[in-house]
Amino acid sequence: MNIGFIGLGIMGSPMAANLVRAGHTVVGYDMSADRMDALAEAGGKAAGSVAETIAQAEVVITMLPDSPQVEEVAFGDDGLLQRGRPGLIHLDMSTVKPETSRRVAQAAAVKGIAALDAPVSGGERGAVDGTLSIMVGGRPEDFTAVRPILGVVGTTIVHVGPSGAGQTVKAANQLVVGGIYGLVAEAIVLLEASGVDPNSGLDVLAGGLAGSRILDLKRQSMIKREFTPGFRIDLHHKDMGIAIAAAREAGVSLPLTGLVAQLIAAARAQGHGSLDHSALLKVIERINR
Ligand code: NAD
Repeated sequence: MNIGFIGLGIMGSPMAANLVRAGHTVVGYDMSADRMDALAEAGGKAAGSVAETIAQAEVVITMLPDSPQVEEVAFGDDGLLQRGRPGLIHLDMSTVKPETSRRVAQAAAVKGIAALDAPVSGGERGAVDGTLSIMVGGRPEDFTAVRPILGVVGTTIVHVGPSGAGQTVKAANQLVVGGIYGLVAEAIVLLEASGVDPNSGLDVLAGGLAGSRILDLKRQSMIKREFTPGFRIDLHHKDMGIAIAAAREAGVSLPLTGLVAQLIAAARAQGHGSLDHSALLKVIERINR
């Protein structure tokens, strides 16, 4: 397929490279020119603008930081809705507000363009390995059309409902992930303060009921205080805001989510916004100093 790929950051770059490797023609664009080098090296083509990326595409994937960037690419003068031909499918794999996905899908439909929200979980590792979990909102027939593409970048791929539903599932994912990081951080602080080796302590936890992908992949780097992103605190802060807004809209109270959101806000306020979200450990440590 001819795929346009907009947003070649930590996640987008390896995802686009995997699509090239699977035999797709990928034209990519990122507002930072140096972000396009990796795509060219992988065999894709770098474009000079959003419009150029869209020109030949049957499917346009966006992997952008937040709602304003997705809205700019969708609604901008040179954007998807102005330049896209009827029949085009916009597959937004960024994590944004459900409301943004619904607004884009409604406006796109008027132009004969299909739009799906398909946020992902699995981190940079999952993007590199092509093993992401993907939660998709939108029309079932559009999901069926892009299913082969999603199968290149992910392994758990579920159509979860209409437009915006993918983002709601992602919000649920992010509050769980944030909570687990917070509790792993507290476990490390407790073990170290008690004079117990956190390596052997967390090895045992990883094999029992407390085991999780986060413990498997991140316990060693957390114990060593290595916080290179990965997934930036700034982005998780954005996601907790989305989760809290979704809870308000649904009329439910999520008290633990509120607490985790405040801890992530503290990490940001302490200047750790560009570190990996496992740097939540720094906040728990500071509370205890
Ligand atoms: P990133 O900041 O590394 O990449 C985003 C890229 O978008 C950057 O290279 C930036 O230059 C580019 N960009 C921004 N505005 C643009 C525009 N208007 N036009 C073209 N390019 C533009 O972020 P990331 O970590 O790759 O995350 C991307 C999305 O995926 C976010 O919504 C994030 O929440 C989500 N996500 C990230 C991870 C992770 O582990 N990093 C995991 C799951 C989901």
